[in-house]
Amino acid sequence: MRITLCLLTAVCWGQAIDPAKIVDLTYAYNKDTIYWPNAQGFQHRKDVWKRTPQGYWYAAGGFSTDEHGGTHMDAPIHFAEGKLTLEAVPVSKLVGPVVVIDISAACAKERDYRATPADVSAFEKKHGPIRKGSIVLFKTGWGKFWPRRKEYLGSDVPGDTAHLHFPGILPAAAALLVSRGVAGVGIDTASTDYGPSVKFETHQVLSESNVYGLENVANIERLPATGATLIAAPMKIENGSGGPVRLLAILP
Ligand SMILES: [Zn+2]
Repeated sequence: MRITLCLLTAVCWGQAIDPAKIVDLTYAYNKDTIYWPNAQGFQHRKDVWKRTPQGYWYAAGGFSTDEHGGTHMDAPIHFAEGKLTLEAVPVSKLVGPVVVIDISAACAKERDYRATPADVSAFEKKHGPIRKGSIVLFKTGWGKFWPRRKEYLGSDVPGDTAHLHFPGILPAAAALLVSRGVAGVGIDTASTDYGPSVKFETHQVLSESNVYGLENVANIERLPATGATLIAAPMKIENGSGGPVRLLAILP
């Protein structure tokens, strides 16, 4: 009887999550946060930051940000007319199994490397098929450059989008993931398309299929290849083409 009660209690009250198993995959928003070179960046205003004459502490301010900067989500509308806006991405797609495809060795040799369908196939050969509803992250190793723009983007000249060099994902690799029924595709660089891209074809492939993107993913090296659960909670901006996302993973 006692065992039954304990079991019932465990089921009813749930288990606390071990804090060591929660990984924050999000960069802080501050003056150093990396945005696309032609963006305004993150502006934070402190209106009040003091003890009041009445004796209590009061702090309040405001902020403004471009939709696409820092650790953020690309809503499908970003590159496909009529597709989902940020607030409309179903919450069922924001929580799911996350898999990490490691392309860091190739990226270390070639800044403009793009993940190939063969990279996806090699992952599946080793770890099994990527399941429907998964969120797939590509690990390029670029997090080691954050927040140094020159190394991270290839150029630190404001407004210069013509000399960007960082790894991305080939449209054919994105198409293969779409065929697996993935919910989202992310990367630890500034874009799912590589730096020199001018047509953003990988964005187009993902957006057309209502698959969201995750960019500037932090701390990706702390994730295993399979077995973790991702929570991708974007700011719920109505009609947003994207926006800041708090990315958390729960390790197995
Ligand atoms: Zn974006």
